Amino acid sequence: MLSMEEPNELLGSIQFEDTSSITVPESLIDQVIGQEEAVEVIKKAAHQRRHVMLIGSPGTGKSMLGKAMSELLPVEELQDILVYHNPEDNNNPRIRVVPAGRGRQIVDAHKMEARKKVQTRNMFFMLIVMGLIVYAYYTGQLLFGIIAAALIFLSMRYLIPKEDVFIPKLLVDNSGKKTAPFVDATGAHAGALLGDVRHDPFQSGGLETPSHERVECGAIHRAHKGVLFIDEINTLRLESQQSLLTALQEGMYPITGQSERSSGALVRTEPVPCSFIMVVAGNLDAVQGMHPALRSRIKGYGYEVYMRDTMEDTVENRDKLIRFVAQEVVRDGKIPHFTRDAVAEIIREAKRRSGRKGHLTLMLRDLGGLIRVAGDIARSEGAPLTEARHVIEAKKMARSLEQQMADRYLERRKEYSMYKSSGDEVGRVNGLAVIGDSGIVLPIMAEVTPAQSKEEGRVIATGRLQEIAKEAVTNVSALIKKLQGEDITTKDVHIQFIGTYEGVEGDSASISIATAVVSALEGIPVKQSVAMTGSLSVRGDVLPVGGVTQKIEAAAQAGIKTVLIPKSNMGDVLVDESIRDKIEIIPVSNISEVFEYSLAGQRSKLLEKLRRFATEKKIGISIP
Ligand code: ADP
Repeated sequence: MLSMEEPNELLGSIQFEDTSSITVPESLIDQVIGQEEAVEVIKKAAHQRRHVMLIGSPGTGKSMLGKAMSELLPVEELQDILVYHNPEDNNNPRIRVVPAGRGRQIVDAHKMEARKKVQTRNMFFMLIVMGLIVYAYYTGQLLFGIIAAALIFLSMRYLIPKEDVFIPKLLVDNSGKKTAPFVDATGAHAGALLGDVRHDPFQSGGLETPSHERVECGAIHRAHKGVLFIDEINTLRLESQQSLLTALQEGMYPITGQSERSSGALVRTEPVPCSFIMVVAGNLDAVQGMHPALRSRIKGYGYEVYMRDTMEDTVENRDKLIRFVAQEVVRDGKIPHFTRDAVAEIIREAKRRSGRKGHLTLMLRDLGGLIRVAGDIARSEGAPLTEARHVIEAKKMARSLEQQMADRYLERRKEYSMYKSSGDEVGRVNGLAVIGDSGIVLPIMAEVTPAQSKEEGRVIATGRLQEIAKEAVTNVSALIKKLQGEDITTKDVHIQFIGTYEGVEGDSASISIATAVVSALEGIPVKQSVAMTGSLSVRGDVLPVGGVTQKIEAAAQAGIKTVLIPKSNMGDVLVDESIRDKIEIIPVSNISEVFEYSLAGQRSKLLEKLRRFATEKKIGISIP
């Protein structure tokens, strides 16, 4: 049992008093924890200049890897990009590329020269004006002299074109850079991504801003010779993805005004270099939402990596987590270092959050959040080190948005007594689900009515079922159809998830659905003091599901007395002693056991039916 483990048993092999004595690697790539494949790929891709797609859960280090990649790229290759006025065509500014650092020098030199020119010109005019006045004074034609001088002065001021027309604009400045650029273009609109030309309100009449000065570079240009990182790639508009693909293929992309009606749209620069390495990230949905051509470009010319959510709980990996704590403390810069016991508490939480037997979580952004909250508590107390009690306090405080939502939801449902944790009821089962990273009790109701269609009965699912839940219903209905023989064809089975809302996944609800339906069909009541989670195979086996710890916690909180979980999930149970005392956890491996523990009263007939069915079909249902 986890809570009985001594802190030392939770730590690794590193000897330390507190995390201040632990060395944090200098380069970002060496700071990445638990994503060995991804790290290898990033190193290889940086070397070969290949694009990378990182798919996985948020907070597992995707953007960190992108940044780490930029550190691996040669800094000597960096360049500055300048845009010049084109005297032949004002709407087609010229582009010039120079080694990093030269750009600023060039602009400065131009400015200096322009200033000098203006000074000389001013001097020249001044001399003429003065000469005129002196001449006029001596010839007695003072009025004529003053008028002439004023004319010359005005023309100098307004008619002679400004010198700064010829000063180039520095679009991309890499002077003094120690690493190749890392540009995060997540959620960028077209202008920010591809560059833009500002609108000129004057447009003509000698007052307009020269077009090259209105040119703004995009993320793709700033990422030239570096890394362009785009998270949630599927949220990028398809046109933008198309343009991105062009930029990738050409290594250059001209800048033009992005809003059609502005004067900027008339301007189009020469192609601007944008030879970047692209790191795209997202979850699996992101892959589906991606422009197919862009996807295949990465597939063909790059690497795809699936990020890990957990790592094995080994001494070596615990050492990495110890280092992670040190890393986050150093990165934060304000919070005190962690004592051994405090680190042990973090590792305990990493175990719990992994939701898997013998694993540690790699959702390290969230774990880092816990470290910071604990550190802040210690700091507010003026403690020299962050201690275990600070971490425990932080765990209570740092409840994620989802957890808070679940809390609120729980409160409300309790008010309306949507929960039942005692008594028996036909067709109603306390299922369990996970929202975000906390569990909820999810009651499921089933009802049987005569079939509306003469040919066949149907299984009708209502409530806001998501795709997975629908599949579970279909699977269950297969088993039920078999169980009921011909009976089912004359009936419609309605299934309802009560109070479901966005974000609840129903994949682990199939044994609950089966139980509710069987109860409704047979008229056998279900014990409401029982909650259950488990996936069901068409053969009747109970298969493992995710989030058992959180689900058990939720069941206990709702006053449930017994919880049924898949036998193969037993090792994933990491609940505290206090919860173990409140609730009985029963492992089940077969649907018949589920019925055995959850149905009240007359169930022998049903179990008999199951038994007969099992022997007839030679399927693996063992009947107690
Ligand atoms: P993602 O891009 O996958 O959402 P990030 O790279 O933004 O995640 O991670 C956020 C922060 O969490 C990082 O800056 C780092 O502090 C921490 N972190 C996340 N994953 C890792 C990891 N694998 N190793 C070390 N730190 C990590």
